[in-house]
Amino acid sequence: MSVCLFQYSLLHVTPPMSTPRELWKSPLVDQANFVSVDKDTLQHTKYKNVFSIGDCGNTPTSKTAAAIGNKLSLHTSAPTMMIK
Ligand SMILES: Cc1cc2nc3c(=O)[nH]c(=O)nc-3n(C[C@H](O)[C@H](O)[C@H](O)COP(=O)(O)OP(=O)(O)OC[C@H]3O[C@@H](n4cnc5c(N)ncnc54)[C@H](O)[C@@H]3O)c2cc1C
Repeated sequence: MSVCLFQYSLLHVTPPMSTPRELWKSPLVDQANFVSVDKDTLQHTKYKNVFSIGDCGNTPTSKTAAAIGNKLSLHTSAPTMMIK
């Protein structure tokens, strides 16, 4: 084990992030184990009846609730259009 000492006034520590292991075994994920979706529609790149919103998707946004909120209107409209 190594010890690092830092001087700081504000410290933001982010732990390693990953998707649930159950997804890793599925055909839904990319090589990094994130669900492979079109970044504009959130529709799966292979399975057109699958959409992903939130931290499990491979969209190039931050993994935050704030980013999910921005995607929400997009996500709710895309599947609705598909059903119609
Ligand atoms: C410490 C911390 C602080 C954060 N602070 C902020 C912040 O200030 N602002 C901000 O915008 N974002 C923040 N975030 C990020 C934010 O919490 C996430 O981006 C957001 O919660 C992701 O939502 P999600 O629905 O994709 O996933 P989650 O909220 O993780 O929900 C996934 C759900 O799936 C369930 N689940 C997992 N595996 C299975 C399974 N096999 N079967 C059934 N259910 C399962 C889990 O129990 C969980 O309820 C923070 C995150 C952390 C960890």
